[in-house]
Amino acid sequence: MLPYPALTGLGVDGSASPRGEKGAAGGGRTSVPGTTDDTKDNAQSDRLLQFSFIQQNDWLRAFSDNAVHGILGMWSWAIVIGLRKKSDFTEVTLAGFLASVIDVDHFFLAGSLSLKAALTLPERPLLHCSTVIPVVALTLKFIMHLLRLKDSWCFLPWMLFISWTSHHIRDGIRHGLWICPFGKTPPLPYWLYVAITASLPHLCSFIMYLTGTRELMSIKHGIRIDV
Ligand SMILES: [Zn+2]
Repeated sequence: MLPYPALTGLGVDGSASPRGEKGAAGGGRTSVPGTTDDTKDNAQSDRLLQFSFIQQNDWLRAFSDNAVHGILGMWSWAIVIGLRKKSDFTEVTLAGFLASVIDVDHFFLAGSLSLKAALTLPERPLLHCSTVIPVVALTLKFIMHLLRLKDSWCFLPWMLFISWTSHHIRDGIRHGLWICPFGKTPPLPYWLYVAITASLPHLCSFIMYLTGTRELMSIKHGIRIDV
């Protein structure tokens, strides 16, 4: 079995880590105490959104906010797989897309492309219900098992889980988590957002290792397995 740290070591300190994305997200120092470098940059990317020229334009604010969701999704998956070759960037891009795309449900619920309508909904749209994440991830895993896609696409339910969870946790700073049908939590404290965002990829990597998913992924990623 592949040792757990074999994949996770990359993407944090190694030369293969996507420093470019970090630069795009932040590029400066923050004063968030007790966090990893990754999360410091995530916090910095949130601070970037405070610039007045972004705040004054609704669409710019929405796009930049959504871009941060995408960057967090990309960064989280980069930590899980490490970046060893070109095809890994495709996966990381897919993770960023998944982390960003769920905001389109605002427009679906509004039934309009009006940003104002999308941002003034009477209720939160379905993909922002956190219960949906494990349901969709497990359903996807089941469908892939039925279609015998589980080896080559075994990463997909985990990618979806991590990308969507990172989105929900960040939204949770303002809105709390919506655990339908049970209700909503209060807004998450910023330290909790930082802690969950920093630990989620590592925690999921460990569970993927325990469940054998990382072993299958290692074959796909062309990494030698030490049995
Ligand atoms: Zn959202």
